[in-house]
Amino acid sequence: MKTTFTARSLYTPLEEISHPLLIVEDGRISEISSREGRTLSIPGPLVDFGDAAIVPGFFDIHIHGGAGVDVMRGSPDDLARLGSFLTSHGVTEYFPTTVAAPLDATCAALERLADAIEAAQSSNGGSDGAVQARPLGIHLEGPFLSHKRRGVHPPEYLAEPTVEIFDRLWQAARGQVRMMTIAPEIPGAMEVIAEASRRKVCVSIGHSDADLSTARRAIDVGARHATHTFNAMRPLDHREPGIIAEVLTDDRITADLIADGIHVAPEVVKLFLRAKGVERAVLITDAMSATGMPNGKYQLGPILVDVKDGKATYKDSLAGSVLTMDRAVRNVTKFADWSLQDAVRAGTLNPAKAVGMEADRGVLASGANADFTVLSSSGEVLKTIVGGRGY
Ligand SMILES: [Zn+2]
Repeated sequence: MKTTFTARSLYTPLEEISHPLLIVEDGRISEISSREGRTLSIPGPLVDFGDAAIVPGFFDIHIHGGAGVDVMRGSPDDLARLGSFLTSHGVTEYFPTTVAAPLDATCAALERLADAIEAAQSSNGGSDGAVQARPLGIHLEGPFLSHKRRGVHPPEYLAEPTVEIFDRLWQAARGQVRMMTIAPEIPGAMEVIAEASRRKVCVSIGHSDADLSTARRAIDVGARHATHTFNAMRPLDHREPGIIAEVLTDDRITADLIADGIHVAPEVVKLFLRAKGVERAVLITDAMSATGMPNGKYQLGPILVDVKDGKATYKDSLAGSVLTMDRAVRNVTKFADWSLQDAVRAGTLNPAKAVGMEADRGVLASGANADFTVLSSSGEVLKTIVGGRGY
């Protein structure tokens, strides 16, 4: 059966189509056109979202949890609950993200996450009629991080990069690792970067104290992204520019940022967006299990984090965020005066492109999954549709 959706506008997100018709059949988009001047009849029922905008669902490539669920500990039911929570914030795709933990615990978590990813591939976005964001691949944040820039990743679980350890994680995840954050200056990192890139993993430099030339060499051998720019990185100095200057100025890589106004000041968010531009800026949440929950103590991998009034801390360090993708998108329109269309791009097509999945993720095009979000003109989520369901 076909269902047709319409609204005031649609962002593909590269193009804006006013008075769009988005036709969905069997969970996929079969056609996108404009209502203007159309004489053919509209197939199936028409769902009209009025004054709103239809945009691709947000794709969060760095998220540790939400709704009380930690992705490293969650059961299948917990992950289903997280998936439903994410759709309430416009997210239709995500990469569950690990933190440094004992290797055995990490491998056990990777096996469970691989199960969830494989189940999502066969269920078309949720079972029992529930609409859930799809876990698409795993982001390994650690264990190959700098001791100096580890943030709250426990030092005892950091490891020197070797292809052997990487392969052990890869095997546990049954090849579902799609992204890895690594500090390029640690001995052994360059070899692991090259090997992970060969396996089509998006290698992202971060949690790093690298100087500029080391960061550049990492890109030469295959790194193509940077993780939460400014946070857990050697600070920018105008004479010793370091990793941040390389991340901001090298057009070979995309980079992401936590745009909550806490991790990075609004003016620096603006600076970042100017440097990476609408083509290369990516929004992430780095959200942890407390997201969407009241103040209290919550799990982030192996550590227990204090969450109070929008701030997650562990021993005075920021420990992930309670940001949601819809708020990150709205913040970009406020902090940097970006249009809603451009801000949406940084949370949809750009992350999909960064991780090499832009052919059918992060865009609205015929043949793509019918995964989309309906936003008010101020960027509030009105509805999220996964696999053509949920309206
Ligand atoms: Zn993180």
